[in-house]
Amino acid sequence: MLSVTPIPAFNDNYIWLLQLPESNRAVVVDPGQAEPVLAYLQTNGLTLEAILITHHHHDHVGGIEQLLANTPVPVFGPINPAINNISQALSEGDEIQVLDKTFRVLEVPGHTLDHIAYVVDSREQPLLFCGDSLFSAGCGRLFEGTAEQMYHSLQKYTDLPEQTSVFPTHEYTLANLDFAIAVEPENQPLRDYQKNCLQLREVNTPTLPTSLEQEFAINPFLRSSEVNLQRNVSNHFGLSLAEPVDVFRHTRLWKDQF
Ligand SMILES: [Zn+2]
Repeated sequence: MLSVTPIPAFNDNYIWLLQLPESNRAVVVDPGQAEPVLAYLQTNGLTLEAILITHHHHDHVGGIEQLLANTPVPVFGPINPAINNISQALSEGDEIQVLDKTFRVLEVPGHTLDHIAYVVDSREQPLLFCGDSLFSAGCGRLFEGTAEQMYHSLQKYTDLPEQTSVFPTHEYTLANLDFAIAVEPENQPLRDYQKNCLQLREVNTPTLPTSLEQEFAINPFLRSSEVNLQRNVSNHFGLSLAEPVDVFRHTRLWKDQF
């Protein structure tokens, strides 16, 4: 089993650090800053052996150069020449070996066009590193892609096992939950989850990782086929939306105005 630890960065980013137990071997996902990663490695006597990147935004790639100056390691990331220092560019279906595990690549455009996610298919410990494509109770803003692209990207996650642990890169959960409850006020598991997350944040504990099972139950951006949600989004816009992709587009639009 890998241990996965959030290293806080900037205001609300998490840089996920993966460690092979009983070893000093570690990798990081989306190091927007180097200093907190270097401090964590030093405090815990760990050696960085790879960097994984999901997309080109500065708060995900800003620390690469300084980390490489410290330890030259492979940098895996999307096909995007705008990201410096990628040593292996990845696309849909590619598989890489990291910490003795196989990480599979999904292309998930929407938030950005270059966005990829990493999946560890494992019966014991299925993992999803989704960057800014999916958050707990939310999804990434559409900076570059269309709602249709994002909808189809998130559909790829519905093929993964429900037990999959999900590692988004921002602590946006409470704000997302306010919106989710506006969209689906009758969803009791959603209200229970909000109560739980409020308690966690009161003592400054991350609400992440989450699980796909949790997100399927509460995340409005994974629930476009739910009848109540379809009705509520339709009513908000005075439309009659039936196609899940149209429901998704309008849910995203509602969130942008929320
Ligand atoms: Zn981003």
